[in-house]
Amino acid sequence: MAHFETYYHDVLVIGSGGAGLRAAIEASALGVSVGVVCRSLLGKAHTVMAEGGVAAALANVDDRDSWKVHFADTMRGGQYLNNWRMAELHAKESPDRVRELEAWGALFDRTTDGRLLQRNFGGHKYPRLAHVGDRTGLEMIRTLQDYGIHQGMEIYQEYTIISLLKEGGRIAGAFGYDREKGLFRIFEARAVIIATGGMGRIYKISSNSWDCTGSGIALAYNAGAELIDMEFVQFHPTGMVWPPSVRGLLITEGVRGEGGVLRNNNGRRFMFDDIPELYRGQTSTDEEEGWRYTQGDKNAKRPPELLTRDHVARCIRREIKEGRGSPHGGVFLDIAWIKEKLPNASEHIKKKLPSMYHQFKELAGVDITKEPMEVGPTTHYIMGGIRVDADTQMTSIPGLFAAGECAAGLHGANRLGGNSLSDLLVFGKRAGEYAAQYAKENSRIKVSDGQLLEITNWALTPFERGLSSGGMNPFQLQSALQELMQDLVGIARTGKELEEALVRIAGLQQQAMKAGCDGNRAYNPGWHTALELTHMLTVAEAIAKAALERRESRGGHFREDFPNKSDEFGRVNITISKDGTGAMRLTTLPKQKIRDDLQQIIDEMK
Ligand code: FAD
Repeated sequence: MAHFETYYHDVLVIGSGGAGLRAAIEASALGVSVGVVCRSLLGKAHTVMAEGGVAAALANVDDRDSWKVHFADTMRGGQYLNNWRMAELHAKESPDRVRELEAWGALFDRTTDGRLLQRNFGGHKYPRLAHVGDRTGLEMIRTLQDYGIHQGMEIYQEYTIISLLKEGGRIAGAFGYDREKGLFRIFEARAVIIATGGMGRIYKISSNSWDCTGSGIALAYNAGAELIDMEFVQFHPTGMVWPPSVRGLLITEGVRGEGGVLRNNNGRRFMFDDIPELYRGQTSTDEEEGWRYTQGDKNAKRPPELLTRDHVARCIRREIKEGRGSPHGGVFLDIAWIKEKLPNASEHIKKKLPSMYHQFKELAGVDITKEPMEVGPTTHYIMGGIRVDADTQMTSIPGLFAAGECAAGLHGANRLGGNSLSDLLVFGKRAGEYAAQYAKENSRIKVSDGQLLEITNWALTPFERGLSSGGMNPFQLQSALQELMQDLVGIARTGKELEEALVRIAGLQQQAMKAGCDGNRAYNPGWHTALELTHMLTVAEAIAKAALERRESRGGHFREDFPNKSDEFGRVNITISKDGTGAMRLTTLPKQKIRDDLQQIIDEMK
C-alpha cells in the first residue's frame, strides 16, 4: 500500500471563506484541534469579493427594524420555501455576529454619531446592511483571518480535497492533493465541516471567482449526503456586459441602494412597469418618493429597482429580449443622474462606491459619475446545496457539517442581498460549535486502505489516458458545460430545454470519464480540471433535474412553460440523494409546519 502523508485533527474545515474561518474560530475556541484546508491561498476565498454589506437588524439607521422584520423579509424574499428555523436563528443572531466582528477589529462605515452605518438593499424593508464602502468582504476576511490565526488552527493552503472519507456510515476525514507537487494527502478527522462556497463557474456568465465550482456540494453528495433546493440559482440583475473579457463581473446592488436607476434604450424607468403583488404595498410608484427612500426618508417607500433580485433580473431580461436593450446587450444603470439632486454627487459616488468607480473606469473606460453603466444578469449564487439541520448544521451523514453558500435552507427560493455574509457568520459559528462538540463525543475512525486505493486510482486515470494520446480535453468539456448551462438551465427555463440539458450533461459525463492530461502532477491545471469536471457535472445534473421537477415559477426558478406559482409546489422542497445504483434520486419533501408565533410575525408584516 502506498504511503500517504496524513494529518490528524479533531475538526477539519474545508474552505477558508467567511463560513470556514468563522467555523474554525469557534471550534478552536472550544479547545479542539482544527485544520483548515483551502485550494487557493488564505485571503483569496471568494468571500473577499463581497461588496455591498452584511445584513443584520441592528436598527442603527432606522429604529423600526428588528429581528422580526428581518425574519419576515427573508421569508418573503425566499417565497416561503425557506427553512423557517434557520431564518429565525439567522435574524436573531446576525446582529451579535456583526458586533463581534467589529470587536475583533473590522472597520465598518459609521453614522455621524459613531454607530455602524447601514444601507438599503433589495427586499430589506429598512436600511440593514452594515458595510465597508463596497469592499465589505475584504474587511470581513481580513478580520476573520487576523483573529483566526491567533487561535492556533493549522492552515493548509493550495490543497484540493477530491473526496470525503467515511467508515461505517460516519465521516472519517478527507482526501486531497497539494497543488505544488501534486502529492496525495490524507486528513483524518472526527468531524468535517464543508465550507466550499458556491458554483457560479458551471455557467458561462458569472460574477463568481474561478474557485466556485460547487466542489463541496458534489463531495457531500458523493459521500451520501442529501441536497435540497438545487433548482434555485440566483441570477444577479447587474453584471457588466462590456467589454467581453469582464462580462458577468458584479455591480453591487449598493449602486441602486444609493439611488441608481435602471433605464431602457428609450430612457424609461421600466421597473415601475411590473411590481409584484407580494411587494405592492412596500414599493413606491413615484420616482421622487423612491429617491427620498434612498436618502433615508423613513416615510417613503422603496423604489422598484430595489425589488428582489429574481424579479429585477427577469425585468431586465424582458427589456433586452423585446429590443429595448443597450448597445452591448444589457440595459442602463445610472447613478450619475443624482447630480440633479446632490451638489457634491461626483465625490459622493466615489466615496460610497469606490470599487465600482474604479472597476468601470479601468475595465470599461466609463466614468460612472458622468455616464450610465451597461448591465445585464449574471449567475451569482445558489440558494440550494447541502441539506443541514437548522440548529447544528450537521448533514445527513454523522460527523459531516456544512455552512455558508454550499449549505442550504435559509434562503428558500431567493436570497436577499447581504443575507449571505450574515449566513456565513451565524451558521459558520454554529457549525464550528457543533462540530467541536461532536468531535469531543466521538472517537477518530481509521480509514481503510481499500478506500484510499480506490480514490488514488480514480485520481490518476487522467494521466493514464493522457491528452496527446487521445484523451478528451478537460477544458473543452468544461466550457461545453458552461455554454449548455447558460443556454438551457439559465434565467428562464422550459421543460424541453431542461430535458435536452440533461441529455447533454449525461453525454459530457461519459466524455469526462475519458478526459486526459499530460505532464506531471506538479501545478498541473489540466489534471485539476479533469478531476473537478466530475464535480461540476454532478452539480449541473442536480440543478437541471430539480429544475425539471419543479413545474412552476418561484423566486430564482422561472419556467416559461409554467410561468405561475403553484400551490402544490409551494408546499414542498425538492431533495436529491444518491440511490443504491449510484443514480440521482429526487424526493419532494413536504414543508415543515411553521411555528405559530413565527407565522404570526409573517402575517403581521404582510
Ligand atoms: P467562499 O468564500 O467561496 O470560500 C470557499 C472556500 O472553499 C475557498 O477557500 C476555496 O478555496 C475552498 N474550496 C472550494 N472547493 C475546495 C476543495 N475542493 N478543496 C479545498 N478547498 C476548497 N453576499 C452578501 O451577503 N453581501 C454582499 O455584499 C455580497 N457581495 C458579493 C459580491 C460578489 C462579486 C459575489 C460574487 C458574491 C457576493 N455575495 C455577497 C455572496 C457572498 O460573497 C458569498 O455567498 C460568500 O462569500 C460565500 O462564502 P463561503 O464562505 O460560503 O465560500
